[in-house]
Amino acid sequence: MENLNIIVPMKEVPDIEKVHFDREKGRIDRSSATAEPNPFDLNALEEAVKLKEEIGGTVTVISMGPPQAEDTLKDAVARGADHAILLTDKGFAGADTWATSYALATAIKKIDNYDLIVCGEKTVDGDTGQVGPETAGILNIPHIAYVNGVIKRNKKRIIVQTELWGRTYKKELKLPGLITVTKDVNEPRLPSLNDKLKARNAEVVKWGANDLAEFGDKKHFGGRGSPTAVVKIEVPKEKGRKSKIFEGPDAVKNLVKQLRSDVGGI
Ligand SMILES: Cc1cc2nc3c(=O)[nH]c(=O)nc-3n(C[C@H](O)[C@H](O)[C@H](O)COP(=O)(O)OP(=O)(O)OC[C@H]3O[C@@H](n4cnc5c(N)ncnc54)[C@H](O)[C@@H]3O)c2cc1C
Repeated sequence: MENLNIIVPMKEVPDIEKVHFDREKGRIDRSSATAEPNPFDLNALEEAVKLKEEIGGTVTVISMGPPQAEDTLKDAVARGADHAILLTDKGFAGADTWATSYALATAIKKIDNYDLIVCGEKTVDGDTGQVGPETAGILNIPHIAYVNGVIKRNKKRIIVQTELWGRTYKKELKLPGLITVTKDVNEPRLPSLNDKLKARNAEVVKWGANDLAEFGDKKHFGGRGSPTAVVKIEVPKEKGRKSKIFEGPDAVKNLVKQLRSDVGGI
């Protein structure tokens, strides 16, 4: 059996249905909602675990986040991951997407023995879809984004399907390489109670900025290493509904006039 060593970067995100936005401070109030694994990352994990079950190998999950992100990694172990690594340190805080990708890529260099990296296509909070391709760029490996089906795989290459702008593409990726997956790629499994209980005691290895110093430059981590900065965040104000009743013989004429003026005087 060929062994495929797979890494799945996973982000813990707030429950997006419940989270509040602090308009004063212009940021997400993370205390207003519970945290959970980014849904797309569960698809990434499922695909990695399926590949491991088919052709052998290991699945390592890695997350950069606060200490609580350990819960997401333990949940990943319950769903079939073998190893879990949490990058947690004040030195990583305030990272933009590039500095996030740089820290993840540096940790992946430290892991060293990998064939495939599987990311989600995007997160439900940041929603940029940049971290997967940026991580591949920093590692200098090829990548394919928006994969919705894995067709064939072996130790040297993987053939995948993507769908973009109404067209279906069959693409081949030489390994080591990175793919990002959409939610259509699979249906993530639910962990059994037994798996959840076992995963509670799983070891989550924690690495800080100093642990990665040998493999990357610390000045590129966190806010200090971020080439972009959020200057201001504004939440668009919701317009209240207005109603107007058109009556009399000119009702239709007046309605048309009103509609024309609402859409910019056509
Ligand atoms: C200037 C600036 C400052 C910021 N400061 C903070 C801050 O202080 N605190 C904060 O929480 N956010 C901060 N952010 C947001 C942070 O940069 C993003 O959350 C992060 O880079 C991931 O981007 P994304 O959510 O768009 O991920 P995407 O690019 O949409 O994610 C794609 C995939 O990449 C992987 N991935 C993404 N993020 C992680 C991760 N952290 N760990 C493992 N895998 C991951 C997952 O597989 C995911 O599906 C800041 C952003 C900017 C621009």
